Amino acid sequence: MLAVADAQQLILRYAEPLTPRHVPLSATLLGLVLAEDVASDLDMPPYDKALMDGYAVRSADVGVLGVVEEIVAGQTPRLALGPGQASRIMTGAPMPVGADAVVPVELTKLLDDGRVAIQARPPRPGQHVLYQGREMRRGDTVLASGAVLRPQEIGLLATVGRASVAVIPRPTVAVLPTGDELVDVAVTPGAGQIRNSNGPMLAAQVSRAGGLPHPLAVARDDADRLRALVEEGLQADVLILSGGVSAGKRDLVPDVLHAAGVVAHFHKVEMKPGKPVYFGTRDRTLIFGLPGNPVSSLVCFELFVRPALRRLRGHAAAGPRLVDALLLEDFAYKTDRPTYHPARLETTAQGYRVRAVPWFGSADLRGLLQANAAVVLPPGDLLHRAGLAFPVLPFEESE
Ligand code: AMP
Ligand code: MG
Repeated sequence: MLAVADAQQLILRYAEPLTPRHVPLSATLLGLVLAEDVASDLDMPPYDKALMDGYAVRSADVGVLGVVEEIVAGQTPRLALGPGQASRIMTGAPMPVGADAVVPVELTKLLDDGRVAIQARPPRPGQHVLYQGREMRRGDTVLASGAVLRPQEIGLLATVGRASVAVIPRPTVAVLPTGDELVDVAVTPGAGQIRNSNGPMLAAQVSRAGGLPHPLAVARDDADRLRALVEEGLQADVLILSGGVSAGKRDLVPDVLHAAGVVAHFHKVEMKPGKPVYFGTRDRTLIFGLPGNPVSSLVCFELFVRPALRRLRGHAAAGPRLVDALLLEDFAYKTDRPTYHPARLETTAQGYRVRAVPWFGSADLRGLLQANAAVVLPPGDLLHRAGLAFPVLPFEESE
């Protein structure tokens, strides 16, 4: 059976960054990957700029100076400074010709006759002045393709006049729960029924991973109706199905996908929970069939879907990033496959620490409330001793 790492590699062979799109400059760019190099269209600062409120002076001058004008941000100075002269200046305003330093207002005293006394040691040339082009020069590449847009990158795009920019869009992700037993959240389940918890949960995971969730109606275990919803879902960049991929009589998903022209790349991975997980493609759409048990769905999403979404979004490192953590308490566990057991991961000054949380198996979503990660336990009937290191898959990072 395919190992988790091999399954992940296989998925990444089919996951290509989406085609870039021009998007207007706004907060919606947050977290997107830039798809072009961006050059500045101006010098920054665009002029020699005062960095303090005070007096623009000639650094060679000391003592009492005549004040020739007042310059506020947004104005241009009218007068050049001659020997013995200063201009009152505000933070951000352009320096007058002749001046090469700013003396902060706290270190000055305005005299009754309108002159100003400098009550400080002679200023250094350039003191509290930022010269034109120090931050960037016109034509400088200030952002490179591949940069992840944070608030500071978005501000810089505005600085250099980019009203719109090429980025890799968020993937659209259709979420298709399947199962005759599923009822809507608002319904009290009858005999043999359960509520569709995977639909909302997977949509939330898609959002957390930076995708755009598109929830579809629940598909009954009926090939024709499933087929119609699958076709709808195949219009998205990614289609996630939950349920119907195991070996049961009503597990129709692999056959229906096959009939829809989806090429299967794997079906079953050596892991717990989530062994029956399925992956296929049709053209550029990626299709994941996740086992219906809620914890299986959640873990398979983190292991397989999330890295694919990162790659579609243009991130260089697809992940998932596993960390090594030391076990905080002895933990006895018996399993026949590598197991992603719900766990609580902590960061301490000494590094990562982890403890397995109580858990009743792959349907036990409540057990996940205390968890923020899964600790990877090897097959065997083993007593894992406190202090041993284990790989851990963190769940919580947002994109
Ligand atoms: P399946 O993979 O279809 O065999 O489903 C495995 C288990 O997961 C069954 O107990 C289902 O009732 C449950 N299950 C399937 N789909 C969902 C869902 N959308 N929400 C909650 N539980 C589900
Ligand atoms: Mg089912």
